[in-house]
Amino acid sequence: MSYLNQSVAKLSGVGAQTLSRLEKLGIRVIRDLIFHLPLRYEDRTRIHPIGRLVAGMTVLICGRVEFIDILPRARKSLICRISDETGFITLKFFHFSANQHNALRPGTLISCFAEVRYGFGGLEMIHPDYQVITNSDTEVTHTCLTPVYRLTEGLSQAILRKVVKQALSFWRDEPELLIDWIPASTLKKYAYPSLAEAIKTLHAPDNLVSISALQSGNVPALKRLAFEELLAHHLSLRINRDKIKAWQSPVFKTDSGKEIVEQFLSSLPFKLTGAQQRVIAEIEADCKLEHPMMRLVQGDVGSGKTIVSAYAALLALVAGYQVAVMAPTELLAEQHNRSFSAWFEGFQTKVVFLTGQLKGNARKAVLQDMADGSAGIVVGTHALFQESVTFHRLGLVIIDEQHRFGVHQRMALREKGQQGKTRPHQLVMTATPIPRTLAMLQYSDLDISIIDELPPGRKPIVTSVIPAERRSAVIERISSWVTKKRQVYWVCTLIEESEVLQCEAAEKTAEFLTNALPEIRIALIHGRMKSKDKDIVMQAFKNHQIDLLVATTVIEVGVDVPNAGLMVIENPERLGLSQLHQLRGRVGRGDDDSYCLLLYQSPLSDTAKQRLGILRDSNDGFLIAEKDLELRGPGEVMGTRQTGAVRFKVADLARDADLLDNIQQTGEQIFIHSPQAIQPLCDRWLGGSSDYAEV
Ligand code: ADP
Ligand code: MG
Repeated sequence: MSYLNQSVAKLSGVGAQTLSRLEKLGIRVIRDLIFHLPLRYEDRTRIHPIGRLVAGMTVLICGRVEFIDILPRARKSLICRISDETGFITLKFFHFSANQHNALRPGTLISCFAEVRYGFGGLEMIHPDYQVITNSDTEVTHTCLTPVYRLTEGLSQAILRKVVKQALSFWRDEPELLIDWIPASTLKKYAYPSLAEAIKTLHAPDNLVSISALQSGNVPALKRLAFEELLAHHLSLRINRDKIKAWQSPVFKTDSGKEIVEQFLSSLPFKLTGAQQRVIAEIEADCKLEHPMMRLVQGDVGSGKTIVSAYAALLALVAGYQVAVMAPTELLAEQHNRSFSAWFEGFQTKVVFLTGQLKGNARKAVLQDMADGSAGIVVGTHALFQESVTFHRLGLVIIDEQHRFGVHQRMALREKGQQGKTRPHQLVMTATPIPRTLAMLQYSDLDISIIDELPPGRKPIVTSVIPAERRSAVIERISSWVTKKRQVYWVCTLIEESEVLQCEAAEKTAEFLTNALPEIRIALIHGRMKSKDKDIVMQAFKNHQIDLLVATTVIEVGVDVPNAGLMVIENPERLGLSQLHQLRGRVGRGDDDSYCLLLYQSPLSDTAKQRLGILRDSNDGFLIAEKDLELRGPGEVMGTRQTGAVRFKVADLARDADLLDNIQQTGEQIFIHSPQAIQPLCDRWLGGSSDYAEV
């Protein structure tokens, strides 16, 4: 067996404990270590004269201890002053041992590495990484930039650096073991180094490579690996897509059902927009083929995606197939259930509703209707792809707000609908505009349709950015708004991770507003409420039995109450722009003017100001997503909380977006000339998650 596939336990200094810690980082074999690339670097290649230090620099210095003392303040600290011939600086330790105190006797020569800051007595370093210099052999400076790796608890940089170094030296004995799959012509064209060179450079960049270039991704070695990683992701989705295209699907012939389709369209309370009609035609063409449709419909909030999917459902029903509609939240699923039930009233089919909350006999009845086919349309949450659920001639799967689901969930539902060799068509909808570059990576397995037109008569939402100090003015505005018989949302945001805190904050706000506005009807909705209770509140709000709805971000997707034309969003600075845009999309759904007030906590950073400004100035979801990508990076655009988001080892989509332009082309070249490279590339970069390609 090659060295590279051997366990890291083989390396010296790796005992059982280190082994399990490395495993936590996904490092099992020597090859994994080689691909565990540094997060950033430190420059210890030269010693800086103390007299020339400026606050903010992170540097290596060398000096003699002048004095040392323990300050008996509230927070006991060890203070030590060192100097060289150019100046002096103070070192501060808040945690220290008696040993340390002893070792730093006056006259001792030491080297320190840390960030320089301003303190009371001039410049200082807090908890520097230091080393006592005992003789001229002590290695003070490093010849290369010092790598800083991602760690896990109990694992130190020193250990990781040591084992990586060993791993690299093993590999040097067998350089041919890591095959460079990027075509030589591509390497030449973009002036990329070979794989081996790139990896060596990144683990130990020599001092000709600057840290700032590394940080900004402006180093060929880094570009090359990022390129290769992005390429691997792209290829894996493409293989997947090709596999899917080879499957069989039911053909939706609608010739015999023309009248039904006409009847459906004429029963709608509105006329479809041009964009809706175009997308419908694209869907119809897909479903006439005997291979599965895999289509993503993107359309800004309120562009009318639901009716487009209902039309697709109609095609399936007419052809005698069942349809599953999956939404990411109960609230949205309930709403779809209502819409579909209304649209398909009088169409001789049952619309049933299935979520995890449905229990007992009611659940049994729904499962029965699904299994025997008496239900033509099944609406639900991810409960739809649980074990106990059986479909009957499932011909179409509709997934709303796709960005909330992972690739895997999407695929699991398709598996469920498999009968023999045929699989259902799939229609995915999202309001999160995905910049073209990202779409190529996340959705290379999907064809994309865009609804780029809002239904007529929509007025842009007027957005204002207001500091929290002016809360009372906002409350007055709500009061006069409600007098005009209009309704209001008040959205409380908190960091997504803590739903409990978010609900608490919403409860407090509801209480506060109830006191401040005793004359208006206020209700609260949040994610920890029972589905039934949420439904009751939502229904009451729709029926205008409530004036002001205090909510958490549960109302982010789908909710549709046209009379609610004013939305206050508290602490908008905490959310991604696309998410804010989506939230804001709850208003502006009627013919009247609508407003969104972003009530921020001051002071606001410059970037935050700029970001909220983008939202104030634009109502275009695509533009907002592009700007958000520029300012914050893709994690925010895609939403870091999303299960489906791709995680990269080296690539950073904000930094490396320029590489994407060349990926498609190189991918094409590999498909044609060296298909044998695809699997190893996917294995190398997608590792455990390469079941992307398997499904
Ligand atoms: P989204 O794309 O955000 O999911 P919806 O499908 O919820 O949007 O549609 C938003 C609102 O617009 C709904 O009330 C829907 O009935 C309405 N709508 C959809 N299409 C049209 C249209 N062509 N003309 C007028 N209203 C429409
Ligand atoms: Mg929707």
